[in-house]
Amino acid sequence: MTVPAYIGIGANLGDAQATVTEAITRLDSLPHTCLTARSSLYRTAPIDAGGDDYVNAVAQLQTTLPAQGLLDALLDLEQQFGRERPYVNAPRTLDLDLLLYGEECIDTATLTVPHPRMTQRAFVLIPLLEIAPHVVLPGAKPAQDFLKDVRDQAIMLIR
Ligand code: AMP
Repeated sequence: MTVPAYIGIGANLGDAQATVTEAITRLDSLPHTCLTARSSLYRTAPIDAGGDDYVNAVAQLQTTLPAQGLLDALLDLEQQFGRERPYVNAPRTLDLDLLLYGEECIDTATLTVPHPRMTQRAFVLIPLLEIAPHVVLPGAKPAQDFLKDVRDQAIMLIR
């Protein structure tokens, strides 16, 4: 069965714009997966961390991979971009988060979906709503309803 999945993309090390753009292309090349929409690129200040501003975007995929298989593919892609985890919230060449996998709720040792912080982050909600204004979280909660909670977070459209 084909499932719509949303991926949050962020980078704040190296040429972050180029990395995010290339990562979106690579998402389209994942096995059993195609890219069906991509947001604009946005610039945001790091939250709870130092380092340069982030470049963020959200991609919509259609995939027949199971959720854990998709996450494994995302972690593999992060590694291909040289991702290291020296400490919590360290700057990152590429961060890929599985935001939504259809309307499934998943809670395992390695995967939590919806992504636990997605409704608290403007850098997720704004690009997500750009490409999927009517997307709903499990339990029929419109993502739009959470926008009011992030209105104080600065986010700038790049292109
Ligand atoms: P991070 O350092 O933020 O990239 O965290 C990556 C780790 O978070 C991975 O090893 C995943 O097993 C775990 N994780 C749990 N839920 C998710 C999710 N929805 N998307 C991405 N990573 C997740």
